[in-house]
Amino acid sequence: MLGRASKTFFHLVAQSGTLRKLASRYGMRKPSSFARRFIAGETIAEAIEAARAVEARDMLITLDLLGESVTNLNEADAATRGYLAVIDAIVRSGIERNVSVKLTQLGLDVDKASTIDNIRKILERAGPVGFFVRIDMEHSSYTDVTLEIFETLWRHGYRQIGIVLQSALYRSEEDLRRINELGARVRLVKGAYQESKTVAHQKKADVDAAYSRMLKTLLTDGHYPAIATHDPVMIDIARSWAREHHVAADRFEFQMLYGVRRDLQAMLVAAGYRVRVYIPFGEQWFPYFMRRLGERPANVMFVIRSILGERR
Ligand SMILES: Cc1cc2nc3c(=O)[nH]c(=O)nc-3n(C[C@H](O)[C@H](O)[C@H](O)COP(=O)(O)OP(=O)(O)OC[C@H]3O[C@@H](n4cnc5c(N)ncnc54)[C@H](O)[C@@H]3O)c2cc1C
Repeated sequence: MLGRASKTFFHLVAQSGTLRKLASRYGMRKPSSFARRFIAGETIAEAIEAARAVEARDMLITLDLLGESVTNLNEADAATRGYLAVIDAIVRSGIERNVSVKLTQLGLDVDKASTIDNIRKILERAGPVGFFVRIDMEHSSYTDVTLEIFETLWRHGYRQIGIVLQSALYRSEEDLRRINELGARVRLVKGAYQESKTVAHQKKADVDAAYSRMLKTLLTDGHYPAIATHDPVMIDIARSWAREHHVAADRFEFQMLYGVRRDLQAMLVAAGYRVRVYIPFGEQWFPYFMRRLGERPANVMFVIRSILGERR
């Protein structure tokens, strides 16, 4: 249960304004600052530089302009304009055209219709120039509305989009059946948010068992699925299942987060698999960063060592 306790703790800490200010002061100011292990930088230029380095290691990329839970439509508009600028910059740079986006960043807490307008603006700019846009999945209180918006966009003919399902949620296997029938691409994750036992498995073994079942369904019945995990056990299950069921290595991809298990990323590429690295960047990096700490308390020591090193 340490995992659950630490997720709760870091979720609470993520809401602290004081810590956010402190982290902003130290976390990103030098190339060696602690947050840079997981976040490519605060600007699009830094993100593109990081993406080029990842591509040079024969990996694929997706860029995430950090931000979530905006509380008014001005912020949602600003985030939308931010994404449009990112799309233009990616096109100019020549890196792969692939972004990930969160609907609460586009106003989901404020107004659903405006959120749909905002995501459509992004898709209208991105689609004609060949982007793939992944809609990230957030806390379970947004699952219904996120899937509803995704499925509506799909039915309106937006096909260069994909969704994320979290094996932690009881409902996800049913959602997976529906999304597979739709023909859309799924990124499978365990789930990064603190969830209650009314909606989600609480034991790691149950989350993993669901992940294993869902990855097999995806490899057999899915549409170019993304197996997004750093868990070597899940990765081995995926590789064995694909081999035994003759699923070629170009019919799916592994995905991992920037700065996490770079050894495993390289090993999979060397073994002939596709690996996509999720590259987050932007000024609003604190909640994302805290989720990464919550997943692995050992990361906290890394942060503390970096801060002490910086202040010397
Ligand atoms: C590409 C990608 C996109 C994602 N998108 C979403 C999303 O849209 N919605 C969502 O809820 N979640 C998302 N996640 C996060 C995901 O839900 C998990 O919280 C996260 O991936 C950790 O789970 P795990 O599968 O790696 O397995 P775990 O069982 O948590 O970890 C397995 C092993 O991986 C390594 N590891 C895991 N996390 C870290 C870390 N932070 N630092 C260092 N090592 C670590 C450790 O060695 C650990 O033992 C995404 C993850 C990835 C890789």
